[in-house]
Amino acid sequence: MTDDAKPKISPLLGGLNLSFLAPAEGDGAASVPAGPDQSTGEPVSARVVIVGSGPAGLTAAVYAARANLEPVVIGGLVGGGQLMITSEVENYPGFPEGIQGPELMGRFREQALRFGTRIVDADVTRVDFGSRPFRLWADRVEYRAETVIVATGAEALWLGLDSETRLRGRGVSACATCDGFFFRDKEIAVVGGGDSALEEALYLTRFASKVHLIHRRDAFRGSKIMQDRVATHPKVELHLNRAPEEVLGVDAVTGVRLRKTDEPGEETLTVEGVFIAIGHRPNAAVFAEWLETDDKGYLRADGASTASNIDGVFVAGDVDDSRYRQAVTAAGEGCRAAIDAERWLEAHEVHEVHQAHEAGAASATS
Ligand SMILES: Cc1cc2nc3c(=O)[nH]c(=O)nc-3n(C[C@H](O)[C@H](O)[C@H](O)COP(=O)(O)OP(=O)(O)OC[C@H]3O[C@@H](n4cnc5c(N)ncnc54)[C@H](O)[C@@H]3O)c2cc1C
Repeated sequence: MTDDAKPKISPLLGGLNLSFLAPAEGDGAASVPAGPDQSTGEPVSARVVIVGSGPAGLTAAVYAARANLEPVVIGGLVGGGQLMITSEVENYPGFPEGIQGPELMGRFREQALRFGTRIVDADVTRVDFGSRPFRLWADRVEYRAETVIVATGAEALWLGLDSETRLRGRGVSACATCDGFFFRDKEIAVVGGGDSALEEALYLTRFASKVHLIHRRDAFRGSKIMQDRVATHPKVELHLNRAPEEVLGVDAVTGVRLRKTDEPGEETLTVEGVFIAIGHRPNAAVFAEWLETDDKGYLRADGASTASNIDGVFVAGDVDDSRYRQAVTAAGEGCRAAIDAERWLEAHEVHEVHQAHEAGAASATS
């Protein structure tokens, strides 16, 4: 998108052709092993099973496949992750002109397939990490994995207005870091009352001529210091006791209609962008019985590595990152997780060989 805040067009809404996601005949991807055969009913065994096909999952797949680990990616019913619902990505390194989100994810997928990754477009609905091999179920198929990389991402929370959905990617956004740059010298609105809404509002003052901060209650939930900063910032105007009823605009945002929550009445703000900052939900529910989460529900890695609390299960990307939530950080974590899984497998193979050797020596002397 250019500086004039050309709207981001969602492929889901804007009808972009996503056919490039399927491997074309003769492009090298056709020789790639197909997904596991559902017809046999046999469990599918793999050394590495990666759950999720966003930047984290597919980067993990590239690394694991190039290490000859023949990974299986169970990528979700809607593959490609969050970048599939955006248009121009201008901050992913290596694309100085920018690249469409779906095209970028198509390239990730192609690269993973090229090295022999098997990708299954299904959701994991149940897991058992209680013993090894770990077991996962997706679309009635059981997968048995020596190691698992969980890269299921997170979802931005939305208000649930029809107009918000229609104008998503056309001036409505849930990511200030990603889209703030497109609103240079424009008036915009931020919706939310927690620390992340206050942070996003302050961040957006770098670009916008004015930031209207809208919160449905009479006080913000964010920290005192952040509240003081927004209250005294010359570019921020507070709208407390106001709730968005409709995002206005046909092809692009032109305003937002607000309902007063403390008295009868409505008012309209003229803005070209609306940032929804009411939180994110990590896609961690299916692992909840096994993997530790923080107080916001994000999976926990041990910090120094991507290891989870279960030996042999690794986590990567937005599902364990409430702080950065960027494609490049997710991809970086996918790389780390694949290297961690590879080293884990190597260490356990060495251990097993050693154990077998000791068992052999013991039986020879008895
Ligand atoms: C509108 C928008 C615009 C953005 N723009 C930018 C940008 O310009 N630049 C940037 O760097 N970042 C941007 N981001 C953020 C970026 O998209 C994320 O940080 C990144 O996609 C996270 O990657 P991930 O692999 O961790 O997760 P995701 O991309 O969320 O991928 C997770 C994958 O896991 C799958 N999954 C979930 N549950 C299951 C399950 N049970 N079984 C199987 N699969 C499952 C999902 O279907 C999905 O394929 C944007 C985000 C949004 C929402």
